[in-house]
Amino acid sequence: MLDVDYHHGNGTQTIFYERADVFTVSIHGNPATEYPFFLGHADELGAGAGEGFNLNLPLPRGTGFGTWQATLTAALQAVQRFGATALVVPMGLDTFEGDPISGFTLKSADYFSVGESLASAGLPTVFTFEGGYAVDAVGTNAVNLLEGFQRGAA
Ligand SMILES: [Zn+2]
Repeated sequence: MLDVDYHHGNGTQTIFYERADVFTVSIHGNPATEYPFFLGHADELGAGAGEGFNLNLPLPRGTGFGTWQATLTAALQAVQRFGATALVVPMGLDTFEGDPISGFTLKSADYFSVGESLASAGLPTVFTFEGGYAVDAVGTNAVNLLEGFQRGAA
C-alpha cells in the first residue's frame, strides 16, 4: 500500500498496523502541522507482528516536486525490499500546488512522472481515488498520473 495523498493514511495504517503481510507506506504533510495531526509520524513503525511493516514519510508544508519525488523513490525501494507482489495506491491529488487545503507544490505535468515512477515497480497496481480539492485541475492531474503510469508500464 503506497499512499500518496497529502494527508496521512491514518485509517489504512490502523487497519494493517499489527500485520506483517501488508506493508503500508505513506508520503504526506507532517502531522505536526497537518491533518490528521494525531497519526502519521515517522516513528510509527507498526506493532506486534506488524512492527517494521509501516513506514511514514512526512514532509513539511511547502515541499516541492524534487523532494517529493525523491521520497517516492525511497517509498518504492521500501516496497521492493518488502517483496510486494501487488500494489494499492490511494491516489490523492491534493499534493497539487493549487490545492486549497494542502501544502505541497506539485504541478500538473509532474503527475506524469509520478505515474511513471509507480509503474517502475513493475507490480499489478490498483488505484483508489482519494483527495484533490482543486476541482478545476483534479481531472487533468488524475489523467496525467494514469497516462504516465501507462507509459511507464508499456
Ligand atoms: Zn488528502
